[in-house]
Amino acid sequence: MTFTNEALTDFTVSENVDAYRAALSEVRSRLGADYPLTIGGEKHETGDWIESHNPGRTTELVGRSARGGPPEIDRALAAAWEAFRSWSARSMEDRIDLVRRLADVMRSRRFELAAWMTFEAGKNFAEADADVAEAIDFCEYYAHQAPGLAGEHETYPSPGESNTSMLVPLGAGAVISPWNFPLAIFTGMAVGPAVVGNTLVLKPSPDTPIVAQMFIECAEAAGFPPGVFNLVTGADADIGDYLVDHARTRFINFTGSLTTGIRINQRAATVHPGQLWIKKVGLEMGGKDALIVDETADLDYAARMAVASGYGFGGQKCSAMSRLIAVESIHDELVDRFVALAEELEVGPADENPDFSALINERARDKSLHYIDIGNETATMLAGGAPGPDGGHYVTPTVFADVSPDSKLAQEEIFGPVVSIIRARDFDDALGIANGTMFGLTGGLISNDRARLDRAKREFEVGNLYLNRKITGAFVGLQPFGGLRLSGTTVKAGGPYYLRQYLAEKTIAEKL
Ligand code: NAD
Repeated sequence: MTFTNEALTDFTVSENVDAYRAALSEVRSRLGADYPLTIGGEKHETGDWIESHNPGRTTELVGRSARGGPPEIDRALAAAWEAFRSWSARSMEDRIDLVRRLADVMRSRRFELAAWMTFEAGKNFAEADADVAEAIDFCEYYAHQAPGLAGEHETYPSPGESNTSMLVPLGAGAVISPWNFPLAIFTGMAVGPAVVGNTLVLKPSPDTPIVAQMFIECAEAAGFPPGVFNLVTGADADIGDYLVDHARTRFINFTGSLTTGIRINQRAATVHPGQLWIKKVGLEMGGKDALIVDETADLDYAARMAVASGYGFGGQKCSAMSRLIAVESIHDELVDRFVALAEELEVGPADENPDFSALINERARDKSLHYIDIGNETATMLAGGAPGPDGGHYVTPTVFADVSPDSKLAQEEIFGPVVSIIRARDFDDALGIANGTMFGLTGGLISNDRARLDRAKREFEVGNLYLNRKITGAFVGLQPFGGLRLSGTTVKAGGPYYLRQYLAEKTIAEKL
């Protein structure tokens, strides 16, 4: 069986829009429900809740998910280790079969799952639809990759001895995921380790617990046995460090911000009493992603790609373009086109399918507004810079020009709709500026100069380089995703080496 990416829905077709609206109405009628934790296949309430609100209509309660604490983490890890014995002993084919069934369940609930993300994460139709498609892709891609990792293989023949090597799962690990791809990243981080025999404690972001609950519903419908996926929702302060520090956590699969990733990496290095391993930590973190446009580029096209890269989902993608680097000779012309397009973008509640919606929470909006204040003091504002409509955490598409490459605006991840335009003398200067941050996640060049495109391949220090296209929207399998430098530990989600990271090699020598 070959792997192909799930097709994205075409929302220029009115039937698709109608079907999506129908899913929104259906999901709206189910908003506000309570969801328990799932530990060892059992539902568990704690008497306390975390509330999830629609970021674009903050009075709308999406749902309440039980607030877990340390006792629930203890129980979840115990359940995961209990399940590990039988799950790791099952054949790879069995586990692959379940992962493929999970993909089928998600396909059958495609618009409904997307609609939950429209309400909980503020994703417009296309962004939410792509998130579900990517979740399905992770299931299918890892199911496709797993068979190659099964079985015992001879190292090489040796007289009088059999020497073999096999890959064995690590044990019970933690998935600590971000809110911005609440189904896709969450699913990929869970299903990858699981398909090769590990069991998991899933700790989603407190901003998107209800989408995580939908994942559990899908996994149960697919027939996963109890204890493979244990869901503990809760507040970071209650369970974040506790799960990372726990002596029974075998590995940590983390995607999120640099600050949290560094904290996790440091804490996970400590070996606690009773701990039998060095924890394996995989970190996918942030970016300060740059798109370079040179004087050979088609400027209309470049401006369109830059706007799509900078403001898709309000800049709340780790791959989002937050720096647009323009060479001197075309700078002003590109800026005019870019600003004109940015000003056309519509901002509003996600269920009305605007270009982008509210930022995820008040903290995110305040963070963008804080950087806008900094920009007002250190750069030239050309567009936006204001809170958007009432009723949600909105910020309008914001453009700053004359941004100094070393300024805070150009160095720190904002994770909102704030783009810094930086003027470069020439292509050499632009490449130096692009490489001049601590991050190395995505980057791109729009140019018609072959030699420069080739140089970018060699010298642009990013995990995902995009030439003559937008710098967001990586497809599973096609474009394995993850960054260099402080953007991550080169985990490369959706890539051919991903599953291997959740396996240990065991060598067996037998005298014949
Ligand atoms: P975040 O770091 O605030 O949270 C990520 C996860 O860590 C959440 O589940 C959160 O609850 C948890 N967490 C917070 N404090 C913790 C602690 N002390 N111990 C354990 N867990 C803790 O990030 P976010 O706001 O959810 O996501 C946005 C960030 O994620 C951005 O920086 C973005 O660039 C990054 N991101 C990276 C990728 C990638 O593939 N490289 C993909 C998506 C998002």
